[in-house]
Amino acid sequence: MNDCLFCKIIKKEIPSKIVYEDEQVIAFEDINPVAPVHILVIPKEHIANVNEITEENSKVIAKIFTVISKLAKENNIAEDGYRVITNTLEFGGQVINHLHFHLIGGKKLGPKIVQ
Ligand code: 5GP
Ligand code: ZN
Repeated sequence: MNDCLFCKIIKKEIPSKIVYEDEQVIAFEDINPVAPVHILVIPKEHIANVNEITEENSKVIAKIFTVISKLAKENNIAEDGYRVITNTLEFGGQVINHLHFHLIGGKKLGPKIVQ
């Protein structure tokens, strides 16, 4: 997937503020944060969206959630709480077609789902 923006971030062809990286997962600050903490956690494998998660590639999803849990604690938002959002395709408001989980916190979020 050559023209995928997040694949380019993974390959460091586009700069980003990386806050976590291992062989399967990378996490970086959202360029347009909607809250004091707004981190995107993504698989390094190009999975387009939730529709593309299968028995074969789903191990990384569990890994992503362990990273989210760790980042929440590191960013001191674990106790107060936070929101994890994944948008899927047009009706879900997905703009970047590489699976990503928004970790959003650091303020009391509105009653509606944001972002
Ligand atoms: P989506 O709307 O697809 O769920 O979320 C895409 C997110 O990617 C948005 O929150 C947007 O601010 C973020 N984003 C778009 N382009 C870039 C970029 O070049 N760098 C970073 N760090 N985030 C980006
Ligand atoms: Zn990609």
